[in-house]
Amino acid sequence: MKPSRLLPLLVACSPFFSIGLHAEEPAKAPVNPAYVWDLGLIYKDEAAYKDAKAKLSASLPKLATFKGHLGDSPAKLLEAMDAIYDAYKLNIRLNSYASQKLDENLSDSPAMERSQEIDMVGTELSQAISYMSPELIAIGEKKIREFIAAEPKLKPYTFPLMETLRMAPHTLGAEAEQVMSSTSMISDAPQALYGILSSADIQWPTIKLSDGTDARLSQAGYTKYRAINNRQDREAVFKAFWGKFKEYERTFGVSLFSSIKGDWFRASVRKHPSSLAATLSNGNVPESVYRTLVAETNANLPTLHRYFKLRGRMLGIPELRYWDIYPPIVKLEKDFPYEDAKKLLIDSAAPLGTEYVKTLTESLNGRYTHVYPQPGKRSGAYMNGSVYDVHPFVLTNYNNNYDAVTTLAHEWGHGGHSSLTNKHQPFATSDYSIFVAEIASTLNEALLLDHMLKIAKSDEERMYYLGSALEGLRGTFFRQAMFAEFELRTHEEVEKGGALSGSKLTQIYGDILRRYHGHDQGVMKIDDLVTVEWAYIPHFYRNFYVYQYATSISASQAFAEKILKGEKGAVETYLELLKAGGSDHPYELVKRAGVDLATPAPYRALVTRMNSIMDEIEKLLAKQGK
Ligand SMILES: [Zn+2]
Repeated sequence: MKPSRLLPLLVACSPFFSIGLHAEEPAKAPVNPAYVWDLGLIYKDEAAYKDAKAKLSASLPKLATFKGHLGDSPAKLLEAMDAIYDAYKLNIRLNSYASQKLDENLSDSPAMERSQEIDMVGTELSQAISYMSPELIAIGEKKIREFIAAEPKLKPYTFPLMETLRMAPHTLGAEAEQVMSSTSMISDAPQALYGILSSADIQWPTIKLSDGTDARLSQAGYTKYRAINNRQDREAVFKAFWGKFKEYERTFGVSLFSSIKGDWFRASVRKHPSSLAATLSNGNVPESVYRTLVAETNANLPTLHRYFKLRGRMLGIPELRYWDIYPPIVKLEKDFPYEDAKKLLIDSAAPLGTEYVKTLTESLNGRYTHVYPQPGKRSGAYMNGSVYDVHPFVLTNYNNNYDAVTTLAHEWGHGGHSSLTNKHQPFATSDYSIFVAEIASTLNEALLLDHMLKIAKSDEERMYYLGSALEGLRGTFFRQAMFAEFELRTHEEVEKGGALSGSKLTQIYGDILRRYHGHDQGVMKIDDLVTVEWAYIPHFYRNFYVYQYATSISASQAFAEKILKGEKGAVETYLELLKAGGSDHPYELVKRAGVDLATPAPYRALVTRMNSIMDEIEKLLAKQGK
């Protein structure tokens, strides 16, 4: 019914990159099994995996036999729902095993084949049950509610069933639904094209840095060198890297334009007024959330500009350019070994109560995290909590710096959410939305920050954490809201019949980029060359996804503030939100917990928080006579 349920919810975390398509560069890492997840918890060996896969394939013909009989009786509907959800559950488990195995070594061909095979089974499953939604809609709400009243075992399926009925105006006939479900075989072409071009085909430039280093500017190289100390080197890095994207501007333009047209095709076929409305309707998120976010972000650009000016002052750069955006404003020469990081996470979670801390401690001490980089391993970080009967897993590329600690806090924030949801929800309502997911992760980051500020041993260290938090708010709130605005503009252009070439996309992106960075006010000069940045952002292939980073961090700041102040009931209300999983519409769940993301208040609170961090940094600077 909901095809999204066919895949594990891999919460791809960093809003700054995709979960990498490329493998992390080789690194020396201990091969202590304590630091490697135990996928034997999912399937004890390959034979067990194969048995389970055979079982799923064998169950598919049975799923088709319910066609035309869902309305026969409450017992028949229950039998069908159980069979379908068992298949979902099994598919997710198989998929998780296959993809996590692959992520240990992306160049492992058998792992790649295993993963592709299980994808095919997923498509077959989705086709086998494509009759469900049209049939349930034909049966109608009245009869389905009567069935639920008559058969208590149907109760856990109430929300998913009602969701299917809610989508009635956008659901087609059985034949058309089958065609639509088949389009999934071709609709990922633009994203695949982007992936191949940006991670394999482009011949990346190599430049010589001022210290003699040959810097190869692949995506990983760009991420590594864009923050280096020497300003001329940074400028050279930007010019070479974005220059390369500029060469392919036309091709990236065709691929993104195709993707946006695909969004509009699916939206209009399903009779949605816009691509945005289609995406938001999945979780019943009011459009006012999206529009309030964009409006409030624009209204608060002076705060972002204040940050840039402070950045310029601290870096000693009077005229900021785009290549001055990444170097840290405060440096910290401090190592955070993994075992120390675990302790920091556990200590920082104390405000969430002993139950939560106990779960987190068990998570960190069990074999649930693939900790260190190793040759061929997937880059970035993610959490997978969708194997319902097994503990959540986290993949990181831990490298002992403070960023790695915050990433770990973020991912296990997701992990804690999944643990609570899986414990308190039946499988049918355990799939929480991304709209809520990034609240759980960024809340734990906020708690970590608070803890680090408390235990910091010097003003310098304190300033480092404040600077890092500030950068987090820029990257997760302002930058993602900027992306959200770009997505809105480009989709609207296509919806009114316009065409988007690479250069047109560059022009639209450039206008927005300049506005956000105060180009006209002399805050930061945006050179033409960097306005091709849109071509690099993988998230644009997941339409209207990134806004949730911005809404989530606004909500999590609000929750963290109440929790840290010790406001009565704040912890309980927040934990209720996590326990609720996917049992209701995500916007409603967050609103019920006290934060209404369709109003300006949470966004304004985030901006206030950002200003108070800057006040504090300025105070520390004044103390140092700077
Ligand atoms: Zn995340």
